[in-house]
Amino acid sequence: MAKTETTLHILRGDPTQDVEPRFATFDVPVEARMTVLAALQWIQDNVDGTLAFRYSCRGAVCGSCAMVINGEIDLACHSHLADLPREVTLEPLPNLPVLKDLIVDMTGFWDAWAAVKPYLISEGTAPEKENLQSPGDRDRIEQFINCILCASCYASCPVRQDNPTYIGPAALATLNRFADDSRDSRGKAVLDGVNDGNGLWGCRMVLRCIDVCPKDIRPADGIAKLRTRALGRLLGRSSR
Ligand code: SF4
Repeated sequence: MAKTETTLHILRGDPTQDVEPRFATFDVPVEARMTVLAALQWIQDNVDGTLAFRYSCRGAVCGSCAMVINGEIDLACHSHLADLPREVTLEPLPNLPVLKDLIVDMTGFWDAWAAVKPYLISEGTAPEKENLQSPGDRDRIEQFINCILCASCYASCPVRQDNPTYIGPAALATLNRFADDSRDSRGKAVLDGVNDGNGLWGCRMVLRCIDVCPKDIRPADGIAKLRTRALGRLLGRSSR
């Protein structure tokens, strides 16, 4: 029989006011195809308007609603209550400072991402129309283009837990996306600033980033490709 009610245990807290976060419990009436995000919205609308969580698109496109759902990192907007037990525990993403309840401070994630210059750098005259590439060249970067910047990989990375200055999987996968883009002309400079233990050599290949990515991206594969590029450069094999 379909569930008619779900109990959410939500880790809540405001570090500016509370010594420790605490779980608050809410019973939510379940509607057909109701998501965890919809349940949070129901609580905010009907029980406690101060409940804090982040969302935008509600369609697994913006990456805003990543959180820990029953111990696993996932997007609240594409986690259906019908697929979860009757009791559901929600916590903010780990390894990021909590601002309030389920909202974390993403500054470190955005700074790491911006550091790799996540945009095309093309020399020469800009084309009059689209800057085209072949289907084969597009295929090579396909999975990394699908990143929605949810920070799930960044939050789950055990290297970051030990070394907060490690740039993290999403930024490195994004760098690989541009390094492999046939239209990008940064060449050898692509490894500037990441060819060390806080960059591509920091990864221990634990592969949590692959486990948690809601878009089936394999950030560790991008890191491995950057390492191949760095070794090739050391051996004088290639500029790209
Ligand atoms: Fe999220 Fe996957 Fe992008 Fe990491 S690689 S930020 S887990 S979409």
